[in-house]
Amino acid sequence: MLSKALQKAFNDQLNAEFSSAYLYLSMAAYAESQNLPGFANWLKLQNREESGHAMKLYKFINDRGSRVELQEIEAPPLEFKSPTALFEEVLKHERKITVLINKLYEAALEEKDYASQTFLHWFIEEQVEEEAAASAILETLKMAGEKGHALIMMDRQLARRGQS
Ligand code: MG
Repeated sequence: MLSKALQKAFNDQLNAEFSSAYLYLSMAAYAESQNLPGFANWLKLQNREESGHAMKLYKFINDRGSRVELQEIEAPPLEFKSPTALFEEVLKHERKITVLINKLYEAALEEKDYASQTFLHWFIEEQVEEEAAASAILETLKMAGEKGHALIMMDRQLARRGQS
């Protein structure tokens, strides 16, 4: 069983992952409104991944004989200034999630909860991937700009995610 403090911390993380899913879905909706189906594709896949992260936590909390407690999910932003501004938000958001995962890991270390530590290794590695992916797209957008041809090429590239 998880300690009371860890149960709360894991439930908070479960909420953070569902909040991420919700944020990416709102970003996808923005992309649809801008006629950027490739961006929307990438963001909808990101939405699904985040729901998957939440469900990993859901299973772990249950497997440890503890109680899943769902919390309120805040409404995400509706509008973004531009596709580049959107990816700046993605990177900022993933960095925030990394800090949360690290704090959760520190709590598991303090409590000498080895099962939680091992479980969280996957999330620690995943955050490296998340930040790298967001950063790569952001850098390309900054380099290529968001006008005409460059934006269309980027949209096509993001349309390929999940198709290989
Ligand atoms: Mg996540």
